[in-house]
Amino acid sequence: MEISFRGKRALVTGAGKGIGRATALALARCGSEVTAVTRTKADLDSLVQECPSIKPVCVDLSDWDATKEALNNVGPVDLLVNNAACAKLQPFLDVTPDQFDMSFNINVKAALHVAQIVARGMKARGTGGSIVNVSSQASQCALKDHAVYCATKAALDMLTRVMALELGPHQIRVNSVNPTVVMTEMGKIGWSDPEKARSMTSRIPLGKFAEVEDVVNSILFLLSDKSAMTNGVMLPVDGGFLAC
Ligand code: NDP
Repeated sequence: MEISFRGKRALVTGAGKGIGRATALALARCGSEVTAVTRTKADLDSLVQECPSIKPVCVDLSDWDATKEALNNVGPVDLLVNNAACAKLQPFLDVTPDQFDMSFNINVKAALHVAQIVARGMKARGTGGSIVNVSSQASQCALKDHAVYCATKAALDMLTRVMALELGPHQIRVNSVNPTVVMTEMGKIGWSDPEKARSMTSRIPLGKFAEVEDVVNSILFLLSDKSAMTNGVMLPVDGGFLAC
């Protein structure tokens, strides 16, 4: 299946590392103009070195005002990937207010804010668009030490549904991908220990974690016209984990 994003303008958050970085590069390869947003400048520098057509924006998305200012001048966006997130793992009884606020600020509030900015432009131009929120299998399945992370991703799933409902009439589709573990920097935080990794892979019918490209391919599908009638879905990229 050939997917082309020629003539489209994409914005990817959390594009410095992992899934976001690979998504930004894949979108550029498919012909899109890409704006990459993240908070570590060195990551943006190396990304632009790798793909000089990518436009870098350096901002901490948990800062509402700074985000508004930084995204003011990026111009029209047709495709948005809300990917930035953090995963601070703690037993439920040890969760602190700071950790709770930081996780919700990045994983939920920033996704809502960036989508508002982008979708307002899409609505005003009347050209429609496609938004993909990067959620997780953790939105639908309890994982030990993941109380706050699971809660942020469950909130993101419901945000995806309401956005699909309200933005659909403007021909703006909103969907999510819900991956299982991917061994990025974030994935390594929770799953580097072989014993722990085995406890997870043994619950995945395909018996393995997802690769970054598995997630990127699903994001590209949901962004593209190949999924033109798909709106408000959570697409598992989990080897069957959530089916069991
Ligand atoms: P990484 O930690 O590898 O990359 C996350 C990126 O987001 C980094 O570039 C990071 O920048 C950026 N980011 C984080 N916080 C902010 C912020 N406040 N402002 C701007 N940028 C920020 O994560 P992954 O690639 O693994 O994860 C990508 C998405 O996939 C996330 O939504 C995650 O929840 C989801 N996911 C990941 C899974 C996994 O096992 N890896 C499984 C299921 C879902 P910096 O490094 O500078 O903080």
